[in-house]
Amino acid sequence: MLCARSEFFRKSFQKDFREGQEDELYLPEDDSDAFANTIDWIFSQRLACHRKHTTSDADQAEHQMRFRKLFVLADKFLLRDLANDTAIEYEKCLTKGSWLPSIEAVGYIYENTIEKSAIRKVMVRLYVEWLFRKESKNADDWAGTIISQPNFCKDVLEAVNAHIDLDPSRCNIKIKCRIHSDE
Ligand SMILES: [Zn+2]
Ligand SMILES: [Zn+2]
Repeated sequence: MLCARSEFFRKSFQKDFREGQEDELYLPEDDSDAFANTIDWIFSQRLACHRKHTTSDADQAEHQMRFRKLFVLADKFLLRDLANDTAIEYEKCLTKGSWLPSIEAVGYIYENTIEKSAIRKVMVRLYVEWLFRKESKNADDWAGTIISQPNFCKDVLEAVNAHIDLDPSRCNIKIKCRIHSDE
């Protein structure tokens, strides 16, 4: 089942691979929680975050950590459905808490995933929607994270430009948007 889902596992267990010969897969740098989540997902196909979403910073950090590690692991194993589902659930989790991707999460994702990865798109979207929301005023909440990663900054600026040109009917934040709402 594992092999049917993952090209990475299939290749790793083929004879000409060292791990294959030893009948075990050694994943030194992989986080064991993310690995456990991967196995869970393979059998349950469920990732949704059912934990509490409070205002505590420590709580938030834990939620963000879980998804970012899982995404990188899934990406590495070429489990594309899992990677995409992780990005979707990450967005839902952060939306529940009214949180933005943390500086640690953005750093980790930009160092460990390729350009235009699903989770990068989610991170950029969350920031852009935040920037356009009328009630978002406090630059302390986002400025530091945006400037912490040049590529993230570039992606956000491009998305800001794209949002300005967006047809009002396609704006996700509608009445709360600084430029797409008449109210
Ligand atoms: Zn959550
Ligand atoms: Zn808008």
